Amino acid sequence: MEIFKGRKLIIATKHKKETIIAKHFEATLGTICEIAPSYDTDELGTFTGEIERTLSPIETVRAKCLNAMNKYGYDLGVANEGSFGPHPTLYFIPADEELMIFIDKTNNIEILVKNISTKTNFSSKNIKTRLELQNFLDQVGYPSHRIILRKEKKSNKNIIKDLTELPEIKNAFDNFIKINGEAYIETDMRAMNNPTRMKIIEETTLLLIEAIQSTCPKCYFPGFTPIQFISGLPCALCSLPTKSIQSKILGCKKCGYELKKEFKKNKPFEDPQFCDYCNP
Ligand SMILES: [Zn+2]
Ligand SMILES: [Zn+2]
Repeated sequence: MEIFKGRKLIIATKHKKETIIAKHFEATLGTICEIAPSYDTDELGTFTGEIERTLSPIETVRAKCLNAMNKYGYDLGVANEGSFGPHPTLYFIPADEELMIFIDKTNNIEILVKNISTKTNFSSKNIKTRLELQNFLDQVGYPSHRIILRKEKKSNKNIIKDLTELPEIKNAFDNFIKINGEAYIETDMRAMNNPTRMKIIEETTLLLIEAIQSTCPKCYFPGFTPIQFISGLPCALCSLPTKSIQSKILGCKKCGYELKKEFKKNKPFEDPQFCDYCNP
């Protein structure tokens, strides 16, 4: 896109996310992607809890992006923030929720996308034996996916991160068993140590670029994206409105033009199992 072409863009990361984000931005928008090698995104909180996160995920991703842009003097930036836990609607299934933001201070553009995926190895467990240790490692995809060990769930002292070799991991585990009788093991969700998450971040990057490339039909401003979702998709059996989303309203942040569209083109009716009348 012309308005971004040739401009320098900072990717606020210290977890190697630029390895996938940069190529897509350069290929589609023509930005020149850079990173700040010493930028510490952990100041806003860490996955492992040594620094507590006090902001909401959306506030965090925005602060991460703006901090990097302000600190290193960029007017274009991208940042990503992941959170992990039970899926918001498919309970008991772990999910990876990725937010990604694009900010252009010169043109006053801010575009944010959210991508929720059940493709994640996110997991944690108390373990007492080497067999349990081995089972966990096998289950989460070690060695391509790394793990974190600590004395107990709530303990932020003695966190063992960045162990790559199996003998080192076994050794650290044995030490915890000696002092505590058990250890707490969890998946390392930092992007560079988790190829499954890196793939989801790549998906999210493509969603963000698609959102940036959606332009207003009136003034051609980037980021013509949904500003509201409207429920009421009719039931296929009784035609009454359900709670499912029927349409979305796309809005331009520059000229204010709005356009109503069907939420999903190929889905004009809702399955009666989600109808309060047919399936109360
Ligand atoms: Zn119905
Ligand atoms: Zn417009």
